[in-house]
Amino acid sequence: MAKIVVTDGMSADAVSLLEKNGHEVTLKSFSEKELIDGCLAEYDAIIVRSATKLTRKVIQSSGNKLRVIGRAGVGVDNIDLKVASESKIVVVNAPLASTQSVVELTISHLLASIRNLPKSDRSLRSGKWEKKKMVGTELSGKSLGLIGFGRIAQGVGMVAQSLGMEIHAYDPYLPPKVAKNQNTKLHKNIDSLFATCTHISVHCNLTDETHHLVNYERMKLMPGKSPLGLKCGNHIVNCARGGIIDESDLLQALNEEIITSAALDVFEQEPVKPSNELISHPNFHGTPHIGAATIEAQRRVGIDIANNVMDALDGKKVKSTVNSHLL
Ligand code: NAD
Repeated sequence: MAKIVVTDGMSADAVSLLEKNGHEVTLKSFSEKELIDGCLAEYDAIIVRSATKLTRKVIQSSGNKLRVIGRAGVGVDNIDLKVASESKIVVVNAPLASTQSVVELTISHLLASIRNLPKSDRSLRSGKWEKKKMVGTELSGKSLGLIGFGRIAQGVGMVAQSLGMEIHAYDPYLPPKVAKNQNTKLHKNIDSLFATCTHISVHCNLTDETHHLVNYERMKLMPGKSPLGLKCGNHIVNCARGGIIDESDLLQALNEEIITSAALDVFEQEPVKPSNELISHPNFHGTPHIGAATIEAQRRVGIDIANNVMDALDGKKVKSTVNSHLL
């Protein structure tokens, strides 16, 4: 029997799966101070989403009992993997559970942007009927540039192709045949992706290398015209991680009409402060990091992470171990 603490919530199905297998589950969130003061020392495993930050100090103050960290989701940028590995803590995630939900949110944002849905709704609510102002464009016949071509990007690419888009990708770690098999043009250079595509969607991980990968100079390269010469403007979506797009550069590009529309699910600082000028820009719309927030994904993520954490506690080899190369 292991003591498992769940700090950012988890589906009831997943909690009962852990309990049925004889584990003691505590659902509790902690302040940063409590975490640094060693409140995790009594647990064998912790399951987090993105809210709990397992920093160097937090992990180092957790004592020797903690053996497994489960991340209910994909991104592990809230966990110090190096320190966890030094402490021989296995970090597992649930990488597949939210893929479809993020794919669908990304396509929703793309369509909402180019058909002016948020703008039309705001206008309608203010009592106006601005039909002529809300003329949009189609996705069909446009070039979509995907930054990162992993699970989510490939799903977005498939749906976008079915809508008639030409798919381009930049992913320096991807075997070229993966892109070829998906009828996707892989660019060796990110600048060439920006110079080709009027629609860009971000799907890489947040790392030192990808921080502010999308900046003003790159946005300025975007063509604003479809391959057939239609002036469709330039559009950007980020449903991956805040910080990959430089938000102040994005604001400047929106103000200078280099970017026609921007839609973000993720932000450099979350929760977003009302003073963030992007939020009130007329050509911006956003969502509060809801990529994985569907009933289906939450259920899958809970069950996947519960199984992975139990396997890791049993000393079994878990496919989704994030730090196996460091242990
Ligand atoms: P994945 O690991 O399958 O794909 C990520 C891809 O990014 C990989 O193919 C990798 O090679 C590529 N990459 C790494 N460094 C790169 C670089 N410098 N330039 C370009 N590409 C690079 O992951 P995934 O499951 O597709 O998730 C993609 C992103 O979506 C992650 O950032 C993840 O955290 C995020 N995500 C967000 C939500 C949300 O709620 N909005 C939910 C789930 C996942």
